[in-house]
Amino acid sequence: MGKTNVMWFRRDLRVFDNIALARAIENSNKILFVFHIDTYQLEKQPTVNQSSFFASVQQFKKHLKEQNIDLQIFYGELKDMFDYIKKQVPNWHDLYFNCDEHGYGSERDQDITKYCQENLHIRVHAAIDYNLHSAYEIKKPDGHYYQVFTPYFKRWMTLVKPKPIAIDLASISQEHLAFSTLEQDTMLSGLIYEQHSYAYDNQIGEGKARQVLSDFIENKLAQYDQNRDVPSLNATSHLSRYLRTGEISIRTVYEAVRQSPDSDGRATFIKELCWRDYYNMIYATHPQQNESAIRPEFRQVRWRDDKIEFDDWQTGHTGFPIVDAAMRQLNATGWMHNRLRMVVASFLTKDLLINWQWGEAYFKQKLVDYDPASNIGGWQWAASTGTDSVPYFRIFNPTLQSKKFDPDGLFIKKYVPELKDLPSTKIHEPSKLSLIEQRRYQVTIGHDYPKPIVDHKMARISAIAAYEQSKANS
Ligand code: FAD
Repeated sequence: MGKTNVMWFRRDLRVFDNIALARAIENSNKILFVFHIDTYQLEKQPTVNQSSFFASVQQFKKHLKEQNIDLQIFYGELKDMFDYIKKQVPNWHDLYFNCDEHGYGSERDQDITKYCQENLHIRVHAAIDYNLHSAYEIKKPDGHYYQVFTPYFKRWMTLVKPKPIAIDLASISQEHLAFSTLEQDTMLSGLIYEQHSYAYDNQIGEGKARQVLSDFIENKLAQYDQNRDVPSLNATSHLSRYLRTGEISIRTVYEAVRQSPDSDGRATFIKELCWRDYYNMIYATHPQQNESAIRPEFRQVRWRDDKIEFDDWQTGHTGFPIVDAAMRQLNATGWMHNRLRMVVASFLTKDLLINWQWGEAYFKQKLVDYDPASNIGGWQWAASTGTDSVPYFRIFNPTLQSKKFDPDGLFIKKYVPELKDLPSTKIHEPSKLSLIEQRRYQVTIGHDYPKPIVDHKMARISAIAAYEQSKANS
């Protein structure tokens, strides 16, 4: 009887360059491929985030099937899954997976490692796969972790990056369990809803992810530095969705970009990849950041719990066209442009003085690229509560952001059709239209499109005062 091992897939839904899978193949005679869905962790209301993730799981199962591999999907308690496997496969020796370094995922990994080792006598091999550098790898010369991005980036750039590894599934002999595949497929489909209304879910899978990467490198990378802040140009990679599910590895992305011709676009893009490692490190070394502000002096900000204005923000009815267009993009596609994530996050936390955690939770439901470290990091940056955030007194002016990054209003017109007839000189502040202009451009402000729900100048003063009050109280 040979050595049977288990490969537990999580947010690494690919075969190519999967570190845990490579190790499992090297050390096993037979492999059982599993994916687990913790039914207790599912959101009460189905979310775009979970639904789109499960669509990728379904696609991955199909992809493996084409190579005669069965991905066994389990539902319920995680420990029950491993107990069951142990009963069914008594000669199971080792467990392989790619670990999480922070949050719930990391706690679960530590707990299950202990359980498998102590109760089931299984050896556990957890690989670092999700980032170019582990959260704990890069430290300052004094031994502490970096709190500021730029020096972290300088150090990050000096380190050699791991190369992708090819994997051959043909050599694998797999372990099967007596499961009803039909039943598993039905349960999985039940978790995927409105799949086709989200543009990204028509474009999932490992092959698609690689195609998106090559298209980006070929057509957009060289100009990335100039165009990436302009939402109407669609000039970013859109790889976040695939990095989040693991349909492509970060090493594959980095290596392909590194091998492309040198350009300012390439340098800027590589810096963006570093932000992903940086926020991974920040979350791992500030585990409380999902519950409270990292900076203690801003834990006393008296947020306004205004549910009506929060609803206006969520649905894209604030009367600030760039904010509304961005929120409608999120609601329609499950993705939002990075510049706009900063604009809407600043608007919620500073103009409306609503707790960043409300915004973070909404993004968590809606984003197809939801990543806890980057999302919490991005929100704490915008709310000025993170380690290296925008200062609390430097508040984005949504109208100026709109004029600078969507000067012709092309992006606004795409998502806010009420304003489609406005010229670029008028589109950023439709509340200033005279009655005659409103008639000319076929929009009645306050009826077809809302008046601004807040006065930016006044809101700015109130926000600065609220942050200063928090500092004084701390
Ligand atoms: P590109 O511009 O092509 O960048 C390439 C890759 O670099 C991205 O896919 C991403 O992996 C990484 N990257 C770029 N910018 C950042 C950044 N600021 N922080 C971390 N990684 C970055 N990104 C997520 O992946 N998931 C999130 O849940 C998320 N939430 C965010 C919330 C807020 C409030 C803010 C301000 C930013 C958030 N980001 C998040 C970061 C960024 O907006 C997205 O990574 C980016 O818009 C994804 O689009 P892209 O793949 O086309 O990016």
